[in-house]
Amino acid sequence: MKVLLVEPDFPIPPKSKNHRDFLPIGLLKLARYHRYKGDEIKLVRGNQYFPKFSPNQIKITSLFTYWANYVWESVRFYKENYPNAKVIVGGIYASLMPEHCKKSGCDEVFIGVDERAERCKPAYDLVNVDYQIIHTSRGCLRRCKFCGTWKIEPKFTYKKSIKNEVCSNRIIFYDNNLLANPYIKDILTELINAKQNGRVVYSESQCGIDGRLLTPEVAKLLKQARFLNTRIAWDHGYSQRRMIKKQIDMLVDAGYPAKDIYVFMIYNYEQDYYEMLKKLRQCKRWGVQITDCRYRPLNQTFDNYNPRERQTNEDYYIHPKWTDRQIKLFRRKVRQQNIMIRHGFSFYSKELERWGAKRREEKIYKDINNRITGYITQ
Ligand code: SF4
Repeated sequence: MKVLLVEPDFPIPPKSKNHRDFLPIGLLKLARYHRYKGDEIKLVRGNQYFPKFSPNQIKITSLFTYWANYVWESVRFYKENYPNAKVIVGGIYASLMPEHCKKSGCDEVFIGVDERAERCKPAYDLVNVDYQIIHTSRGCLRRCKFCGTWKIEPKFTYKKSIKNEVCSNRIIFYDNNLLANPYIKDILTELINAKQNGRVVYSESQCGIDGRLLTPEVAKLLKQARFLNTRIAWDHGYSQRRMIKKQIDMLVDAGYPAKDIYVFMIYNYEQDYYEMLKKLRQCKRWGVQITDCRYRPLNQTFDNYNPRERQTNEDYYIHPKWTDRQIKLFRRKVRQQNIMIRHGFSFYSKELERWGAKRREEKIYKDINNRITGYITQ
């Protein structure tokens, strides 16, 4: 059998920290699974026609519901160009809105996680990346209203060890709630000792870590296991500030500089603009950065947000407690505050931002120079 695996042409923002390490991991696992079965596979991004490859099945992945249009475009393209192939759509949007997804014209909607593919190691040879992705768990113990995880993966399952999976010096964990794994301490200890090609392994968690599950011991293990870009979530009101401060303190005590800690915040949601401003100022006092996440409902099928234009609910989702202007203002304030924290400025100005970026560049050149000089003198 011939199988074409398709990642639609999603508009992944190139500078986004949240999406920087996005890989169609489900498709890579499916690729390995089909290879095991002896099938011929091809992985493609976007809509492309291959005159010499005539697939029997076309499997299209989906992501956020508000990127549904990109999935629909792919379904239309592949149905037109390969009328004899069976087109199946899976992934997040397909699982959250199967009825809507079926209207795209596909032949089948696959809901949830494909357990057969889940057992396979991703086919990394199909992509050019210097990292690997690991899930130590699926699902989540919690039931946050704004999150679709527990709807797509209702059962919380976890691994006791990942030792035999490590094959890169950089691991991105795709767990929804990494610390909820009851074996997290064992796994972190494995990472502390892990080596690839004689070098240690660095890790990151794609999602923020659940600070309510953080203990001083776990914070230390995270640091020793070389976890970078640690982010904790502050999902609710300003009244949670003491709890959040405790979590930040644990990370600082474990050795993370405050300016390298990020606090995840959902905005355009139940806390209004003024409450969110209080949270923003509190983070400034603590000297930590913010990762902001604009809320969209789980059944929103479009998002034409444009930061440079005045817009309405017809363009993108605006929560009843927010206005378009407040959303854009909040986003800008977060960005400016992050620059201040990162560079140690006491106020924000465009000139300082340019100067900070230049200084950073100079530092990088200086580091490279030092390293080269080091090699020459060795
Ligand atoms: S803790 Fe995170 S993954 Fe779990 S339900 Fe809440 S938002 Fe979703």
